[in-house]
This record gives sequence, C-alpha cells and structure tokens, in this order.
Amino acid sequence: MKRILVTGGAGFLGSHLCDRLIKDGQDVLCADNFFTGSKRNVAHLLNHPYFELMRHDVTFPLYVEVDRIFNLACPASPVHYQHDPVQTTKTSVHGAINMLGLAKRLDARILQASTSEVYGDPEVHPQQEGYWGRVNPIGLRSCYDEGKRCAETLFFDYFRQHELDIKVVRIFNTYGPRMHPNDGRVVSNFIVQALKGQDITIYGDGSQTRSFCYVDDLIEVIVRMMETERGFTGPINIGNPGEFTMLELAEMVLKLVGGKSRLVFQPLPSDDPRQRQPDISLARSKLGWEPKVGLEDGLKETIAYFRKLLSEDPSA
Ligand code: NAD
Ligand code: UDP
Ligand code: UDP
Repeated sequence: MKRILVTGGAGFLGSHLCDRLIKDGQDVLCADNFFTGSKRNVAHLLNHPYFELMRHDVTFPLYVEVDRIFNLACPASPVHYQHDPVQTTKTSVHGAINMLGLAKRLDARILQASTSEVYGDPEVHPQQEGYWGRVNPIGLRSCYDEGKRCAETLFFDYFRQHELDIKVVRIFNTYGPRMHPNDGRVVSNFIVQALKGQDITIYGDGSQTRSFCYVDDLIEVIVRMMETERGFTGPINIGNPGEFTMLELAEMVLKLVGGKSRLVFQPLPSDDPRQRQPDISLARSKLGWEPKVGLEDGLKETIAYFRKLLSEDPSA
C-alpha cells in the first residue's frame, strides 16, 4: 500500500482518480480548495478507512508524508480559469513549486497533469510531444496555458537540478460523469442544454475540432504512467485521437438526448484553438495503452449521469 496525495482530488478527474486508487488498495490523501471541485464528488469515499479529505490551497506550502503525488489542482474550464486569472497562474506556478518542494523533501514521485493547451492554437496536426506550440502569452487563455507551460518548466528543472522522479502527462479534452453542470466546457454545456430543452450554443461556426477522451480511459493511462520506471519523464500525450467538429458533437448529443433544442451560433471566444488531435504513438508504444471508449458510448454514460443529477436537483 502506498500513501498517495491527489491535489485537486475533489474535481472531475481527481475524484475518479481517488476512486481508482482506493480500489487498487492505496492510502489516499485528497487535497482540494473546492474552487471548482466539490465534496459531493468524493462523499462516497469519506467513510473509507484509507481515504482522507483535506481542505487546502496548493498555493500555500503543504507538509505531509506521502510516497506519490498526482498534481491535478487547477481549474480546467475556460470559464472558471478566466474568472480569477491571477489565481489560476498562482495555482499552476506556486502550486507546482510547493508540490515539487514537497516531493523533493520526501524523494516522492510526482506527476503533473499538464494539458494540450501547451500547444496553443497549433500549426502542426496532429500534435506530437516534440512540438513547442503556438501560445499567445498575453491573451485571455494565457493564465492557463502559460501557467501550465511554466509548471512543466519547473518539473523539468527540478528533474535536472534535483534529480526528482517526475512524470508529465499532457491531457487532451476529457469528459464524463462528475463534470460540473455549469462548468462551461462544451460536452457538459451541450448535454445540459439538450436535457433542459434549451438552445445549444455553438461558438463560432462550429467547424473547430477537438478530440474527446472518456474519463475511464484517461484514469487508466495516468495510473500506468505513474508506475513507469524512474527516468521516464514524458511529456506524454494522452487523449483519444477521434477528432470531431463542434457541430458534429452537437448533432450527436441531440440525437442521443432527443428533444427539441435548436442550434444557435454565438461569437467564438478569443484565441480558441481551431483544431486539436493528439498523436498518441508514444503512449501506445511506451504504456501499451489505447483508448477503448468511443465518443457515442462515452456520451451515453455522461448523459445518464446528468439526467439523474438534473432529476434530483433541477436547479443544478
Ligand atoms: P476540475 O475543475 O473539475 O478539477 C480541478 C480541481 O482542482 C477542483 O477540485 C478544484 O477545486 C481544485 N483546485 C483548483 N485550484 C486549487 C488550488 N489552488 N488548490 C487546491 N485545489 C485547487 O477540472 P478537471 O477537468 O478535473 O482537471 C483536473 C486537472 O487536469 C487540471 O489540472 C486540468 O488542468 C487538467 N486537465 C484536464 C483536462 C480535461 O479535459 N478535463 C484537459 C487537460 C488538462
Ligand atoms: N514545500 C512544501 N512542503 C514541503 C517542502 C517544501 O510545501 O514539504 C514548499 C516550500 O514552501 C518551498 C517550496 O516547496 O517554498 C519549494 O521547496 P524547495 O525545497 O524546492 O525550495 P526552497 O525551500 O529552497 O525555496
Ligand atoms: N464551445 C462551444 N459551445 C459551448 C462551449 C464551448 O461551441 O457551449 C466550443 C469552444 O469554443 C471550443 C470547444 O467548444 O472551440 C471546446 O471548448 P471547451 O471549453 O470544452 O474546451 P477547450 O477550448 O479548452 O478545448
């Protein structure tokens, strides 16, 4: 049994990761400031003898004793990370420094949840790990993109300077149950709108693309990455290479939910990437991993989750 810290553990991905680690028989410490996460996501774990929930903001130092750290703390939806952009950068940068300092003191292995946003609005397609990206340093998305890029820099400098045992995964758009209903991300927006019979909001002309990975596939590969040999640092792309336009996504959601929602077009947010698709050759060869859940099946699971949530709490 290992003692494992999950920062951002009460969020969407973090709570699924906590579930998985508890199922694997680990001793889990979940640290979260509940900015976008919620106790509700981990309520079912609270009585488990090897699960502990701690209210903590990673921009402050943390002194605990653990063997592994998954650093997931950071709002991930553009609406949320742009709400308090200074805090977003602090969370990525000060949070990384504190968690790396903690890992250094303990010689603990540490994994960073980085993002496809480090590639910005890419001119290389699909994106490989060797691509340096095209990121606007002063735009509305920069607090997130540059914060995550700086966190990667810190991880690699602690690796080179202090020989820390680091792992960096670049996560592409991931969806599934426990996304926040008002999260603002496209999958939750479209599903909630369709279930409520509201207009489906397409930003721009809907021709921009994303590649959507179902949460179970993602958790599997994060756990595998953590258990690779020391020195295999990444960065490694993880995501589902199936690429869809936002119009295709809207039509699929409408077909699966049914109902009478109309598609409406709204302005495209600034610096919104035109296209995004991971090249996952490295994850395939190094981790023997392949996403298994197709978009339609994953959407069905996610729709069932939101249907239940809205029936219990229509104001959600
Ligand atoms: P989320 O918003 O559901 O989870 C983030 C969690 O971090 C929340 O529980 C939030 O309360 C917590 N948090 C935020 N700031 C904090 C702070 N200062 N101190 C402590 N906790 C803090 O988002 P998610 O989708 O679960 O994302 C988890 C991680 O994965 C993030 O680091 C995100 O950047 C990364 N990621 C996610 C995706 C995706 O598509 N879901 C894609 C790329 C990267
Ligand atoms: N830190 C922490 N927990 C620890 C050890 C360090 O939160 O168990 C924080 C501490 O706030 C410090 C940061 O991590 O500022 C970086 O630590 P490091 O040892 O790398 O640098 P230094 O302490 O020399 O600034
Ligand atoms: N999007 C949309 N309607 C929405 C929310 C988002 O058309 O209600 C678009 C958004 O402009 C972007 C894509 O969907 O092109 C993915 O957006 P999301 O916020 O989910 O993630 P990110 O842009 O960070 O990949």
